[in-house]
Formats: sequence, C-alpha cells, structure tokens
Amino acid sequence: MSRAPASWLALLLASLVLAACVRAPVESTPAPDRDDIAARLQADIDTLADDAMAGRKPGTAGGRSAYAFIERRMGEVGLVSGTNDPGSYWRLPVDLLATEPQSGQLVLGQGRRRVVVPDSDAAVYTPRRRALAFGGPGTGVPVVFVGFGDGSVLGDALAGAVVVMLADSGRDAARREALFRQRATAVLTVLPDAPALARLRAAEERPRLQLASEEQDHLAAWITEAAFADLLGARRWKSLKADAQEASFAPLELNLSVSIEATSDRREFQSENVIGMIPGSVPGSGAVLVLGHWDHLGECAPPEAPDRICNGAADNASGIAMMLELARRLKAGPPLARDIYFLATTAEEPGLLGIRSFVKDPPVALSGIVAAFNLDMMAVAPEGSAVGFIGRGQDPALDAAILAAIARRGRKVGDQSLADSFLQRQDGWALVQAGVPTVLLSATYGTRSVLDPFLATRYHKPSDEAAAVELGAATEDLLLHEDLIRQIADPARYPAKDSARP
Ligand SMILES: [Zn+2]
Repeated sequence: MSRAPASWLALLLASLVLAACVRAPVESTPAPDRDDIAARLQADIDTLADDAMAGRKPGTAGGRSAYAFIERRMGEVGLVSGTNDPGSYWRLPVDLLATEPQSGQLVLGQGRRRVVVPDSDAAVYTPRRRALAFGGPGTGVPVVFVGFGDGSVLGDALAGAVVVMLADSGRDAARREALFRQRATAVLTVLPDAPALARLRAAEERPRLQLASEEQDHLAAWITEAAFADLLGARRWKSLKADAQEASFAPLELNLSVSIEATSDRREFQSENVIGMIPGSVPGSGAVLVLGHWDHLGECAPPEAPDRICNGAADNASGIAMMLELARRLKAGPPLARDIYFLATTAEEPGLLGIRSFVKDPPVALSGIVAAFNLDMMAVAPEGSAVGFIGRGQDPALDAAILAAIARRGRKVGDQSLADSFLQRQDGWALVQAGVPTVLLSATYGTRSVLDPFLATRYHKPSDEAAAVELGAATEDLLLHEDLIRQIADPARYPAKDSARP
C-alpha cells in the first residue's frame, strides 16, 4: 500500500443497494485445514520479509532475490508462463529511472547588470545529468513572457525559446507541460514569495523514482517575484504583471538575458513484474487477474536506528504469500474455464509504477479481464473481522457476486467509507483507470479498530515484521477469494459483459 497522496480527490462512489442476497449453499468440498493454510502463508512471509531480502527495494540485491523467489514458487505451485513472450518465461521488465537533484544555478542579466540569483530566491531542476540553457540578447534565443498563459497562441514559434511564466496555483504543471510540448528550451516560473519557493524545494528535492518511459526531460527554474522585479525594475514588472491580467494580453519578448544550469544524480535500471498463469479449459472465454506488489521500502529508518530494514511483512509479503497459496489451491482443484493470471508487481510503493507499466504493455488484453483482485496488506486483522471492500461500485455484477460470496461465507462487509478512502493508494487503481473492474477485498480495511493500530505502529516501519503478522482473517480472506474466483472463472456462473472482448 502506498502513502496517501498530498491532496485527495473527492471520491464519489455510487453505493449500490443490494436488493436481496440469496444464500447459496457452500460448495461441498471438504473443510480446508486452516492451520495448514496459515502455516504455508507464514512460510512465504518469513522468506520474503527476512532481513536477507533487505526490505525488497527495486533495484537492489534484496529486490532481485524477492522476484527470483516468487518465480521459483510460481513454478512450484504449478503455474506456467504468463508473459506471452517465448524469450522471457516469468518476467515483464520494467524500466525505471531514479533521479535526485544535485545543483542548480540561475543567472539573469539586464543591460550591464548580471545577477547570480541566490538559492533563497531561485531553484533549478532537471532529470538530466547536466542541462544548460541560454537566452536573451546576443544568444539567438528569445526570452518570451507568456504571463498566465501556456504559450499555445504562439505554437511552433515558441520552439527553442526560454519561457517566463507567472505562477497560477493548480494550473502550473499543466502549463509547463504545454510549454515543453511546444519545445521550449527551459521554463522559468515566477513564484509569489519565498514560502512558495520553499514548498517547491521540499517537493522537488526528494529523490524520485519514475517509469523511464514517463521521463520529463526538462530544464525548469523558479524565482521569487521580489527577485525578478528587482532585476527587471519595479515599474516595468508592475506594468508587465498588469498587462498579463488583461484579456487582450499577448506573449512578448523580454530584453533579458538568462542562463540556467542544473545537474542531477541519475540512475536507470530495470526491475521486474513477474507473471504466471493457469490456462483455462475454454480458450477465448476471458481471464481473471490476481495481483499483489512484491516491493517494499528497503531501509527506511534513520541511520541511528537499531533496525533500519523495513521488511514489509504485512505490506506486502502477505499479499504475495496469499497469491501463491491461492494459485496452488486453484490449480489443485477442478479445472477452470477462464485463464487465471497471477501478477507480482514491482515499484508499487513509489507510485504504482510496476502496475502502470503492465497497463501500458499488457501481455493479455485488458478488455478480456472480467475481474481483477488486488492483494495488499492482507495479514493484519484477526479472525471474524468484517471484509473491507475497496473498489465497490464499478460493476453491478461484480459487486453482487462479491457481496453474495461474503454472505455465504458467513461474513460481513466492513466500513465502506474507510475502504473507499484507500481506492487510489493501491495497484488496483491503475487497472480501474484502464477500465478493468478491480477490487481489493481484505479485513485489513474493514474496521478502523483493526486498521488504525497497524497504521500507527507498523505501517512503513521496521516493526512490520514476519513475527507480527496476524493470519486469522487472512485465511478467511483467502478462502473468500478462492470461492469467488472459482465462480468468476466460470462463464456459466459469471457471464462476460457485452462490452468485454475476450
Ligand atoms: Zn506500502
């Protein structure tokens, strides 16, 4: 489970009213031995959350041992390749880019005056190792002031220019993107004051990990209004700013020389999503996807802490362990009509990167996936806890099947607003956005009295250790998934929607 984003989008999920919930008889399979299930889950959690895997951070030796272990276990439980690529049996490579700003300098000049703007008034960033831009008189590169606009009125005329824009909270990132799409060489944003610059620094100077394919190869600078006005002259700045407010405002060239330079520590590396499958007995009838993230945070405690490794036992060794046990049980039972895919994703913690890579280049048509089940932080709640239902309200047929399965297992649905608040913080969100009906069913998110103590004491801390996991509700959640997936894998019991094109 990833951190809460800084700003939450208001979520309005239509809550569906379940008209009537008919109790279907529980299938007449022998009662599974819960102690055996719990023992198998614990064994895989022990391995994945061992200090030997050093917190399973992508791009580290511990991360590589984690997915090597999952591959071996996928083979042991009887899965076959899910990559659809004869050159790669289990792995779907994910190209990642880690960057951390190192240095930056903004120099402005007008007439004979030349000013190296101090760090207290300016900041410059690039994801490149080193980036440099010059503009203004004598350089052949125009410095263009676009005010509160995005320069789109200029179109291609902006190519190569250094652009100066006025900050307009909430719209700046999109405007900057638009300017770079028009091939601006660099963008200098004028911020209202020093606190705004401090907030920007705090956000930009963190190390960041992103998909290499989503790299924003930009050179961007920020300056406080006071420093910019000082260089331009107070009167000139005042009239420029007033003009920018007018509806008739048109971008104009500034008689200003600009030099922008920045360096960044940069590392490109490959991590892996791992995918296996149980081929269905009716080819072309669609697929069910089970997923969980294998990565965690690596060392996350301060250097002086006695234990620095965040082992991520609940988050998310437990989800991987449950996926493997679910695969083993589904494979061992009666044949299933639909294909069942099992996907262990990388780089969930830094922003759902592995699953986003999967969505961009899936080995199975997303339109053929009738439902997906994410497993994340599964080993927190005690036996008998209510089921948190993350992702409710996307698909009436799926909701009905889930609610019926919860009821026939003698369980209850938990606090819906609590579950809803986690929708965007888990891998399933990337699938939901891609139109794949995806849920996360876990007693972890069923009640605050279960979740809050975990969040307060173990979530993303070294104390999320294998010895501390609680498998009571996890075992029940596993059996719920098995029951549900058997139904959803059967086109006779769970028809595909007309819109699905398996
Ligand atoms: Zn997490």
